[in-house]
Amino acid sequence: MNKFDILEPRTVSEAVEMLQRHGSAARPLAGGTDLMVAIKLKHLQPRYLINLKCVPDLDGISLHGGGLLIGALTRVADVATSDLVRRQYPMLASAAGELGSVQVRNVATVGGNLCNASPSADTVPALIALGAEARIVGPAGERFVQVESLFCGPGQTTLSQGEVLTHLRLPAPEPGSGGCYLKRGTRKSMDCAVVGVAAWLMSSQPGSVCGDVRIVLGAVAPTPLRAVQAEGSLQGQAMNETLWNQAGMLAASESRPIDDVRGTAAYRREMLRVLVPRAIEKAWSAALAGGWSGLPAGTLVKAK
Ligand SMILES: Cc1cc2nc3c(=O)[nH]c(=O)nc-3n(C[C@H](O)[C@H](O)[C@H](O)COP(=O)(O)OP(=O)(O)OC[C@H]3O[C@@H](n4cnc5c(N)ncnc54)[C@H](O)[C@@H]3O)c2cc1C
Repeated sequence: MNKFDILEPRTVSEAVEMLQRHGSAARPLAGGTDLMVAIKLKHLQPRYLINLKCVPDLDGISLHGGGLLIGALTRVADVATSDLVRRQYPMLASAAGELGSVQVRNVATVGGNLCNASPSADTVPALIALGAEARIVGPAGERFVQVESLFCGPGQTTLSQGEVLTHLRLPAPEPGSGGCYLKRGTRKSMDCAVVGVAAWLMSSQPGSVCGDVRIVLGAVAPTPLRAVQAEGSLQGQAMNETLWNQAGMLAASESRPIDDVRGTAAYRREMLRVLVPRAIEKAWSAALAGGWSGLPAGTLVKAK
């Protein structure tokens, strides 16, 4: 393990300034569950770690314009157990609860899960499906981007040198909407997804027709992937099982999985044919249960 210094910024601007000053020799540090492993394995050899945990206000979950504001330094365990998240976005609570083990969730942060940019990251498909937006602060000031456009390859984000992810903004839940995240791993816990599927959809008033829909696939492409053809096959249609199975076939055909130690590309496609219809069905039940008068209902689902 190479030697490094840990720097302790007290504000986001200080963190940005430190990152800029040290350039590629510096790395932001959050929970360290990805970063410290990479350093130990000598995949990364930073000279400086900029400890974002020293910056107040980057941690916590609060109401924001009918939706939620989640600090990037919020621990995954807090996302999984937060009453606000469980009530308004049960799919996200469920996805966070699928990440690693209790010990990992107690240290790992939601921002770190995004910035590590693993195609199998558990919180990312749910955040994209919910239409989350990222607040990024850097040398040029602040900018907001859809979480969907944060990724450009395995381990690569669109963040520039000196930029820090500070918050995630979730839009107010739509009445009549529901979501579901399903994960297939190789074992019961402590394993990254072989396939992850997040489905979010809205029922049209008064009910049987699908309105807006987002289906996001994890671990089956270099970045989390919107299954746009599958989405298109549902939009404006009266929902039924045949349609859901067809969406599963479309999602499998638009995925770009690889063979690796966790599973073959063929297995991943097969799992999409199973999990996509299942996630749509559960999201649809949640949407119908939410009705048009109150907050959307949802399902806390364990796929394993
Ligand atoms: C045993 C084990 C099991 C795991 N299981 C899973 C699993 O099932 N599912 C899953 O998705 N992941 C899993 N992981 C991976 C990891 O725990 C998560 O990706 C975690 O959310 C990373 O968060 P962190 O705070 O530890 O990030 P860190 O390790 O601190 O940082 C990760 C990367 O993001 C950068 N970064 C962090 N925060 C910011 C920020 N705010 N702004 C800019 N850059 C930032 C860092 O520089 C680094 O490059 C597992 C890890 C371990 C060790």
